[in-house]
Amino acid sequence: MSLLTVSGLGKSFGGIRAVDGIDFELKAGELLALIGPNGAGKSTTFNMVNGQLRADRGSIRLEGVELVGLKPRQIWRLGVGRTFQIAATFASLTVVENVQMALISADRRLYSFWRPAREHKRDEALELLKKVGMAAQADRPCSVLAYGDVKRVELAIAMANAPKLLLMDEPTAGMAPAERNDLMALTKDLVVERNMGVLFTEHSMDVVFAYADRMVVLARGRLIAQGAPSEIRDDPKVQEVYFGSGKTFEKKAVAAEAVP
Ligand code: ADP
Ligand code: MG
Repeated sequence: MSLLTVSGLGKSFGGIRAVDGIDFELKAGELLALIGPNGAGKSTTFNMVNGQLRADRGSIRLEGVELVGLKPRQIWRLGVGRTFQIAATFASLTVVENVQMALISADRRLYSFWRPAREHKRDEALELLKKVGMAAQADRPCSVLAYGDVKRVELAIAMANAPKLLLMDEPTAGMAPAERNDLMALTKDLVVERNMGVLFTEHSMDVVFAYADRMVVLARGRLIAQGAPSEIRDDPKVQEVYFGSGKTFEKKAVAAEAVP
């Protein structure tokens, strides 16, 4: 069974069909990129999956369980995680304290709400930080971290909930190319190691072509193509919506940044 099954999904705002009946699946252990030009419906799709927007029609199932109609918190409890920007109020906490808080909150999800956290989870938090390459900075306040390092901590926080499906909306926005590659390589490792599914939106075609296992391409609310990066790169419909006719994705730039 697929981890995530989206079928006939639609959402309109006034007269605009932001998402107009799309179907796709995502398997455990798969990194799926959702791409398309501005206004294609990526964020709307994303927010229907995490429960911030309610679909007008269609269905979104996680291991067969219908998510349409559930609240974000309920969807999170079922094992759908997302990377959040670390809230300003948490910036004064240290790196490890942020991850400890996430672990305590995840414990409540996995066990019960009233059972107090037995320990402060520092060891477990350090373990997660080691995974994302941030153990050495565990006791620094988040407010002093470099941008790329904040992103690693956000990933550790999302992993605290042991999600089955992780949603990442433009995870590498604002990052330098080397940092982008580090973050995506790390994400890819986690996907493989935990057999987790990842759905991400991304502007950088270099990142998408280098790291996505599969891609779903939206344009004006419709799904116009899906498949492996190699299939999508040469798809005339995809090139048309990105460039108009006659141009193609830059293959050299992609090869230069590809996973070693
Ligand atoms: P993308 O993330 O691919 O750029 P969006 O999902 O944000 O696209 O938007 C898809 C379409 O829906 C756009 O035409 C956008 O203007 C419209 N839209 C998105 N959110 C809203 C909203 N809250 N109210 C009205 N229109 C919206
Ligand atoms: Mg968007």
